Amino acid sequence: MTRRSKEPVERDTQLARLVLALRSQGVTDPAVLASIEKTPRDLFTPDLFKERSWEDSALPIACGQTISQPFIVGLMTQALTLEPRARVLEIGTGSGYQTAVLSRLSRLVYTVERYRTLMRAAEARFDALQITNVITKFGDGFLGWADQAPFDRILVTAAAPEEPTVLLQQLKPSGVLVAPIGKGPVQQLCRYAGNGEGGFKVDVLCEVRFVPLLEGVAKEL
Ligand code: SAH
Repeated sequence: MTRRSKEPVERDTQLARLVLALRSQGVTDPAVLASIEKTPRDLFTPDLFKERSWEDSALPIACGQTISQPFIVGLMTQALTLEPRARVLEIGTGSGYQTAVLSRLSRLVYTVERYRTLMRAAEARFDALQITNVITKFGDGFLGWADQAPFDRILVTAAAPEEPTVLLQQLKPSGVLVAPIGKGPVQQLCRYAGNGEGGFKVDVLCEVRFVPLLEGVAKEL
């Protein structure tokens, strides 16, 4: 067998293994698992780490950032309880992997990134995958996306130092926001579920390690 014909089989096997591992850890929503299965993570990882694309671990990407661990991507996506008609705001596009997973489960995904380089690379990946329901913005995610608010769901994929009040104001009254909250290297993954009357029920899902949400846009050379 030539190397060329062998590669897809190995890729499929590794992907199937990853999906099984996520399921055994508690990511059981079939739609979420199907979206992960359909999203080629190797398109989102840098050349140096391509071979590790199917490991259940976070990996370095450009600009000193990381592509999230698949289990965490699955857990956060599941916690959002997405509906096909949902308009979703994501803060921290990074590689665009989480965005792509969300795009298959919702109507529109608005995603904000403070590194122009990362945003452009992610846009090229969405084009390559013919994902047409993602709208990108270069900007400071601390501010959310006021023009397009309110959102059905909001996902923050960098650690917010405290309760993200500005983002909670951009959520529909019965919406759901999921974010890592904390100032240190380990944060609490929190789920805010709107009660329809301006209040929230807050659940802590687990401990996570995310890069921090930083204010302003990044200055790049
Ligand atoms: N979900 C991404 C993980 C990205 S890591 C993936 O799967 O690849 C977190 C990202 O949040 C980084 O790209 C970082 O630049 C971005 N970020 C941090 N603070 C931000 C802010 N205030 N506004 C927008 N993006 C921010």
